[in-house]
Amino acid sequence: MRRLTADRPIVGMPSELGQVMTAARAREQAGERVLHLERGEPDFDTPGFIIEALAAAARAGETHYPDARGTLPLRQALVEKLGRENGIRCEPDDLVVTVGGTHALFIAFQALLAPGDELLVLSPHWMAIPKLVALAHGARYRTVPAYLDLQEDRLAPAAFGERLRSSVRPETRGIYLNTPNNPTGAVLSGAQLEAIAAVAIDRDLWVVSDEAYEHLLFDGRRHVSLASLPGMAERTVSVYTFSKSYAMTGWRVGYMVSPPELRPVVGPLLSFYTTHGVFPAVQSAAHAAVTGPKHDVEAMRREYQQRRDLLLAGLEGQAAIRVPCPRGTFYCFADVSGALGDADIWSLVREWLSLGVAVLPGTAFGPDYGHWVRLSLATRREDVIEAARRLRDRYAAHTVAPAALGATRGNPA
Ligand code: PMP
Repeated sequence: MRRLTADRPIVGMPSELGQVMTAARAREQAGERVLHLERGEPDFDTPGFIIEALAAAARAGETHYPDARGTLPLRQALVEKLGRENGIRCEPDDLVVTVGGTHALFIAFQALLAPGDELLVLSPHWMAIPKLVALAHGARYRTVPAYLDLQEDRLAPAAFGERLRSSVRPETRGIYLNTPNNPTGAVLSGAQLEAIAAVAIDRDLWVVSDEAYEHLLFDGRRHVSLASLPGMAERTVSVYTFSKSYAMTGWRVGYMVSPPELRPVVGPLLSFYTTHGVFPAVQSAAHAAVTGPKHDVEAMRREYQQRRDLLLAGLEGQAAIRVPCPRGTFYCFADVSGALGDADIWSLVREWLSLGVAVLPGTAFGPDYGHWVRLSLATRREDVIEAARRLRDRYAAHTVAPAALGATRGNPA
């Protein structure tokens, strides 16, 4: 019989998160307690005033087909927000409301990647990126190690620019950037972003700038939007979501701002053939979020920062796990070369699961990260403390071979 599944690259691509969650669930069903540090899902409820805005809008009849690009009041409010917070000047017609940031990235790649085109993906990168590129017919991507070296100041902006420049090939069309970065928590500085901008301008590339974690910043760090740099607004597609800032993952609402040149492409990609926009009442609630008080956003940000501090403090007293300090997001990317020995990363992830600590293997974020794991702080504070305690106890007496420590220097090969 003929196979029913299409022969597409995305079919059969593994989901590391799915595998870890299934294994964690099996342990929970067997009565074990599992601390969930694998998921990137805020554990907070959406602020009440946003929920009220949804209910009021639905009652008021905002239940019909929307303008596929987004309601005008929301797009106007977002234009103001982008000007005020991101230094991006645009018009409502340059902005579309999407079904979360994932959909915005999907639309961006569909609009920008033709068959044979290549996207440079700064890495480690969010695990959905390979699949989203695979959905753009005939497009490919190549990773360029970036965030760990930039986070730990091992690579000056000029040297980083050189690394990027030497990665560009004739088929390279653009760069995917994500700051604050999932999974490392790196927050790129203005100078580091200028290095990216210089290469993009020089080699005539566009950039998709994924700013999903723009509000989750620690230690007084500032988020700089790439499109605010001179010469970049005309070649940058900036992607945002309500998921993380407002704990609105389930609402599926985000937005993207792109140069006017993309208007004729983005509108049709969003119309009846795909989603035809977002539930209008959800857009009214998003309007309330973006125009309303920000103390909930600040309270969540502060809590994530405290959990980061608790995790780092809790891991003190062992040398097997090394965590470059995240300056934003709610993730820690940990170098576990000292814990691994000759084992592969999945056997370590399974061992940690047997200790009741669920994490994601670094290979979910690019092939170069086989001795890293991601720990998510988007879980209860007590669980973060307990996970750190279990890991510290496991490795307190563990001695690390100097060779393994050496492997933590420089770029993961
Ligand atoms: N970009 C990054 C880097 C992410 O981590 C996520 C979610 N984990 C998204 C985009 C998209 O999130 P959503 O679709 O919920 O808006």
